[in-house]
Amino acid sequence: RTVYLNGSFVPLEEARIPIMDRGFLFADGIYEVSAVLDGRLVDNEAHLARLDRSLGEIGIRNPYPTAEWIRLETELVARNDLKEGLVYMQVTRGVAERDFAFPPADTPPSVVMFTQTKSIRGNPLAETGAKVITVEDLRWKRRDIKSVALLAQVLAKQAAAAAGVAEAWMVEDGSVTEGSSSTAFIVTTDRRIVTRPLSTALLPGITRAAVLHLAAEANLTVEERLFSVEEAYAASEAFYTSASAFVMPVVSLDGRPIGAGQPGPLTRRLRELYIAMAKGA
Ligand code: PMP
Repeated sequence: RTVYLNGSFVPLEEARIPIMDRGFLFADGIYEVSAVLDGRLVDNEAHLARLDRSLGEIGIRNPYPTAEWIRLETELVARNDLKEGLVYMQVTRGVAERDFAFPPADTPPSVVMFTQTKSIRGNPLAETGAKVITVEDLRWKRRDIKSVALLAQVLAKQAAAAAGVAEAWMVEDGSVTEGSSSTAFIVTTDRRIVTRPLSTALLPGITRAAVLHLAAEANLTVEERLFSVEEAYAASEAFYTSASAFVMPVVSLDGRPIGAGQPGPLTRRLRELYIAMAKGA
């Protein structure tokens, strides 16, 4: 596998990061993940816009203009002959003597990119539907920043794995904030698609935005509002979205079946609409 490290394409085994990298010591960095379908990046400019915004929010200089990011991603996809999977990008505040405060302004950010092969469109979980548990949201107050500090999500996903389910939905003050690596949606019994409004309490999902757009185009009713765990238990459908899952049906929450306990019709339709969009992108 070929990865990208600070200006060079190198074999994965040869890529090394200094231990004084602030990403390693402090998780002082930002990341992005774009999907690749049929060898093409999906909704990639929106991911790069979010990368730029996240970097700006924590005062890391974006090392490349958008066109250069796209060129590097495209070259990495080609070098790895990636047809379906993910491109991971990470920028940290660079290598400096250990100190919480920012290093000198001329410290170059560290840049890492790699690909992962993954079946996204044909993921068998999308046929059966995913089981989900709820966990407490243990994160900080700026979840709109796509920081590499992911300890709360690591613990949430591990709780899901230990429970034998695919995802954990994080809960704060009785309302679902989002999944450990996805945006949470429910469909009410009167066919309203509900997801939490954007704020500092959750990541502005790129797939979320695309799905809301596709739902509006299809004349489906969308409500951006908080929803409780109890409301989710009583929903007729549920699903989650992310670059790596697209639209994933949820068939149970905390062991209770959602609706008929099968992927719901609106969820299936949104998944198909999203895949059609991704193929045409
Ligand atoms: N929320 C969180 C916490 C995530 O980690 C992710 C995946 N990066 C998402 C939502 C989904 O975002 P996107 O659709 O941009 O992949």
